[in-house]
Amino acid sequence: MADIYLHNTLTGEKELFKPLKEGQVSMYNCGPTVYNYAHIGNLRSYVFADVLRRTFEYNGYRVDQVINVTDIGHLSSDSDDGEDKMTKALKREGKPLTLEAMREVANFYFEEFKKDLSALNIELPEHFPFASDHIQEDIDLVQTLTDKGFTYTTSDGIYFDTSKFPDYGKLGNIKVGDESRIGVNSEKKNYRDFAVWKFNNELGYDASFGKGFPGWHIECSAMSVKYLGPEFDIHTGGIDHIPVHHNNEIAQSVCAGNPYARVWMHNAHLNMGDEKMAKSGDNFITLQTLEEKGIDPLALRYVFLGARYSSPLQFSWEALEGADTAIKSLRLRIYSYPDNGKIVNSSFNETINDDLDTPKALSIVWEIIKNKEILDQDKKATILSFDKVLGLAIAEYKITEIPPQVQNLIKERDLARNAKNFAKSDELRAKIEEFGFEVKDTPEGTIVVPR
Ligand code: AMP
Ligand code: ZN
Repeated sequence: MADIYLHNTLTGEKELFKPLKEGQVSMYNCGPTVYNYAHIGNLRSYVFADVLRRTFEYNGYRVDQVINVTDIGHLSSDSDDGEDKMTKALKREGKPLTLEAMREVANFYFEEFKKDLSALNIELPEHFPFASDHIQEDIDLVQTLTDKGFTYTTSDGIYFDTSKFPDYGKLGNIKVGDESRIGVNSEKKNYRDFAVWKFNNELGYDASFGKGFPGWHIECSAMSVKYLGPEFDIHTGGIDHIPVHHNNEIAQSVCAGNPYARVWMHNAHLNMGDEKMAKSGDNFITLQTLEEKGIDPLALRYVFLGARYSSPLQFSWEALEGADTAIKSLRLRIYSYPDNGKIVNSSFNETINDDLDTPKALSIVWEIIKNKEILDQDKKATILSFDKVLGLAIAEYKITEIPPQVQNLIKERDLARNAKNFAKSDELRAKIEEFGFEVKDTPEGTIVVPR
C-alpha cells in the first residue's frame, strides 16, 4: 500500500500513518449535537472526515467509521455550565421537558443532518450511535473512573480530577490558563476539572450515583470504545474541540484503561467576517440557504476542497458561485468525453496522501483537462477515478444545468437536423455558441459543453 502522511495534533507532526490492523482503519468523528440544523461550518468537519475516509478507501483500506449523535448532555459552554442545548431546543419548539420529546427533536434534526450529508455526497459511516442509547456504557465508565479514584462528587455532579492525570492538556499543548472556560464552580478542585455526570432530579437517567445526565465528553469516550475498541486509529473534530472536549476525552479514557486514539486530526474553521460560523447569530448559513439561492451543495464541497482542511477558510458568496460554475463546467466536459479510456499517470495519489492536499488535487484535475496530449476518453477515466476521493459526483450529469433557452435551442436544432435542414441547424449552433456552449454531435445525440 502507498504511504499516507497525516498531521497528528497529538505530536504536532506530519507522520506516516501506521494502522493498528493491516489494511484497516478505525475512525471516530465527533458528530452533531442535534438541537438545530447543521450550519455549513459544521459541515466542513464532515466533508473533511469524508475525504479522509475516501482517501483510505482509494488506497485500498477497509474503513470502520463512527459519527456519534449527541442528543443529550451537551451544555452551552464547554465548562459544564450554561443551559443544556437539547433543553434549549425543547423550549424553543414549545415541547414538553421530557426525554421522549428530546428524542423526537433529536430524530428530526438527525434526519435533516443525513439529508445534508447526502447532498454533499458524504459516504455514511458504519455506525451512527445516539448518546441516549448508550447510557449504560456511560454509567459503567463513570463507575470505573470512580473505582480507580479519578473522580469526586460535588453538589451538582461527579467531576474528573485532572490533577490525577499529569498529561492533561498534551493534545494541542494546552497550558494552564489557555482554555476559555467561562464560569467558576467553587466546588471544583481545579478549574480544568470537568463533569462526567451531572445530577438532575427532575429530568434524567437513573444511576446508582444519582439521577442525571452523562457529561458530553464521557459520551464520546464510551461510544468510541464500544464500536472501535479500547485503542483505535483516528479521532477527528473541529479545532474548537482541542482545548477542552478532546483533552477531556483523552484524560478519562486513558485513566479508565483505554489507550484510545493514536492519531488526532482537526479541521480549521469556516469563518464569516472575523468570527467562526456558529449556530446562533446572523452568520448561521445552512445548506438550505444555498439551495434557495440556486447553488449546488456540491459547490460548497468544491470550496472546501479548495483549501487544506487545516487552514481557516473565509466564507464568501463569490467563492461559492465560482465553485458552482467550475463544478458544472467539469461535469459537462466529462460527460462530453467518450468512455472506455484508461487512467493516465499523475501525482494525484501522492498528493492526496500528503495530509489530504485537496487544493493541489483540484489543480491536477484542471491540468489534465487542459492537457492537449491526453485523449478525451483518458481524461474522463482519470478524473472519474480521482472523484472517488473528491466526491464531486462528476459523473452525475444533469441536463437541467443547461439554461432552458439553450435546451430549447438544442431541441430545435435536433429537429432541423432530422429534417436535413442544415442551414437552420448551423444557425442554431451559432445561437447556442452565443450562450457560451459548444455543440457536439455524438451517436447518442446532441450534447453541449461550456466553451
Ligand atoms: P456541534 O454540532 O456544534 O457539536 O459541532 C459539530 C462539528 O462542527 C464539530 O466537530 C465542531 O468542531 C465543528 N465546527 C463547529 N463550528 C465550525 C466552523 N465554523 N467551521 C468548521 N467546523 C466547525
Ligand atoms: Zn466528541
